[in-house]
Amino acid sequence: MVYQSFLIKYAEIGTKGKNRYLFEDALCSQIKRALKKIDGSFEISKEAGRIYVDAKSDYDYDDVIDALQHVFGITWICPMLQIAEKDYETLKKTVIDYVGRVYPDRHFTFKVESRRADKNYLVHSEVMNRELGELILDTFPETKVDVHKPDVLLRVEVCKVVNIYSLMIPGPGGMPLGTNGKAMLLLSGGIDSPVAGYMTAKRGVKIDAVYFHAPPYTSERAKQKVIDLAKLVAKYSGPIPLHVINFTDIQLYIYEKCPHEELTIIMRRYMMRIAEEISKNNGCLALITGESIGQVASQTVASLAATNEVCTQPVFRPLIGFDKQEIIDIAEKIGTFETSIQPYEDCCTIFVAKHPVIRPNVNIIHKLERRLTERIDELVKTALETDEVIWCD
Ligand code: ATP
Ligand code: MG
Repeated sequence: MVYQSFLIKYAEIGTKGKNRYLFEDALCSQIKRALKKIDGSFEISKEAGRIYVDAKSDYDYDDVIDALQHVFGITWICPMLQIAEKDYETLKKTVIDYVGRVYPDRHFTFKVESRRADKNYLVHSEVMNRELGELILDTFPETKVDVHKPDVLLRVEVCKVVNIYSLMIPGPGGMPLGTNGKAMLLLSGGIDSPVAGYMTAKRGVKIDAVYFHAPPYTSERAKQKVIDLAKLVAKYSGPIPLHVINFTDIQLYIYEKCPHEELTIIMRRYMMRIAEEISKNNGCLALITGESIGQVASQTVASLAATNEVCTQPVFRPLIGFDKQEIIDIAEKIGTFETSIQPYEDCCTIFVAKHPVIRPNVNIIHKLERRLTERIDELVKTALETDEVIWCD
């Protein structure tokens, strides 16, 4: 079956009142961006609260569905058969042809729902519903009508052309990208942070990312894994500039000056400080991490409070209340899990203490950080100068 057009349905944007057109325009431009990556030429148009993607050349059906399933804001994708010929007999023939080809197994209940946007069309919608329903029953006796809860809702719309559709393929939901500012994701090679980035982008937020690299304690392969993860998230979020910061000297300095039990918390505080600096310099208004309460010692409520203390920008932690399995389920769904579980060390796992504090006392942390006074500002400045930006798309 060759579908000439796809009807794009959206949910939340519909509630935006006067600003609705801004969200619709953002959705159209994101659809355009996604379809540019595949073969084929498409025209995107808005019409009376609907968005259409019309194919203007041959295309691969699976590629189009995959591209559209990566566009936030889309709730449903409906492939439509279109006929320019509005003659009623042709319409009837096409409906039968449609049902026959789209549903090889016709043991289903159905309902026909017709709409006549072209009021000059001679056949009224109720008549069309009844007659097309009867025709389907006659042609495919294994079908049954159910007007309340049909398995198949067949829509026939007579507009400039005739649209026939019944399939509804789920989109990713959320809000179109670019409708809600930009935030800086702390992206490690783990399972959690790519999911946190995906979830924030899903609300329309553009993403920049920062990765703290600690060569030679972390390998080039570990860095490549983070780049690969950023590319996978970018399939949804659009291109991500990934800032790679050399964190080795800071880490070694903290390791030398502070007790190992507090090491992770102090390191995380410096990561947040540097991330915030890069965030502000790049027009981001918030930070994003993959933290979840209680997952590890550095993510108890007390530890999160101690880490959070150094930030002035809001820190988004979309996974805060999620169990690990729930996070893994999303990672699998969005395709980051396989890459995340590759066994390359990230910088925190090299310097982990045997017994990290789980209830850090911020006064003690402040006191310990004073041991770093002599060199830490200079080390932070040098680290910021190592910023290597890699565009991940
Ligand atoms: P993840 O699976 O995202 O790596 P995690 O369970 O390993 O998380 P931590 O190592 O405690 O947890 O890190 C908590 C959060 O801090 C991460 O989700 C990420 O946002 C950030 N983070 C940790 N290490 C790095 C790093 N090397 N570079 C950038 N961000 C990091
Ligand atoms: Mg980690």
